[in-house]
Amino acid sequence: MSKLSCEIIKDILPLYYDGVCSEDSKRMVEEHLLDCDSCKMELEKLKNEIHILERDIIENRKDSNVLKNISTSWKRLRLKSFIKGGIISALLIGVIILGYVGLFEWEIISVDTDIVKIREKSEMGDGKIVYYAEIDDKYSLNTLKYDMDNEGNFYMTPLRPIIKREAQPPYGLEKGYDYIDIKVQEEFRGKEIKKIYYGTPEDKILIWEKGMELPKTSEEVEKSFGFE
Ligand SMILES: [Zn+2]
Repeated sequence: MSKLSCEIIKDILPLYYDGVCSEDSKRMVEEHLLDCDSCKMELEKLKNEIHILERDIIENRKDSNVLKNISTSWKRLRLKSFIKGGIISALLIGVIILGYVGLFEWEIISVDTDIVKIREKSEMGDGKIVYYAEIDDKYSLNTLKYDMDNEGNFYMTPLRPIIKREAQPPYGLEKGYDYIDIKVQEEFRGKEIKKIYYGTPEDKILIWEKGMELPKTSEEVEKSFGFE
C-alpha cells in the first residue's frame, strides 16, 4: 500500500466510523484495513477517542444532574427561608401597626375635666341642648363617647389615645359648639334622660338637667350645625 493511500484512508476514517461515507469509500477503507495495521490502529484510536468523548458527555450529564439537584435543594431552602422571612415580616408589621394604632389611635384615656370649659349653653326649638366646649391643653379631641346609666344620667366622655396629637385648626371636638339630641338618645336607649354630664361618673361637669331653663340657641350657631 502506498503512503498516499494511507493518508487518504486516515482522512476518510472518521466518516467511515460515523457511517456517513459512500459505499465505494467504505469498501475501499475495509479493503485497506485488511492489510494495513497502521490504519487499523488509527481506527481503534478513533473508537477509543469517541468512547472517551461519550463517557465524558455522560459524566458531565451526571455532574450537571448533581448541580441541578444542589440548585433545586438550594432553591427549596431559599423558598423556605423566603416564606419564613415573609411570615416574620408580616408579624413584625402587624405588631408595628397594632402598636401604632394602640398608641396613637385607640381612644381610651378620658380627659380630665379640670382642663375642660363648658359655656354658652342653650336650647334649640326642638329641644336639642347646645354648648360650647373648650379643652385648654392644646391637644386634639376626636371622640366623645355617649353612655347612660339606669338613673337617667347621660355621660358624654371625651376620649383620647395614649399619645395625644396637637390641636390644629380646623378644630374638632376640643374647641367648638356641639349639641346633644335628647329625643333621639331617649328613643334609641328607651329611657328618659334626667341629667347630661360631660366627663365620667367619677369626674364630670353638669351640662343640663330636667327642668333647667336655657336660653334659645342663636340663629348663627344653629346655622353652624347645618340646621335652618
Ligand atoms: Zn494504511
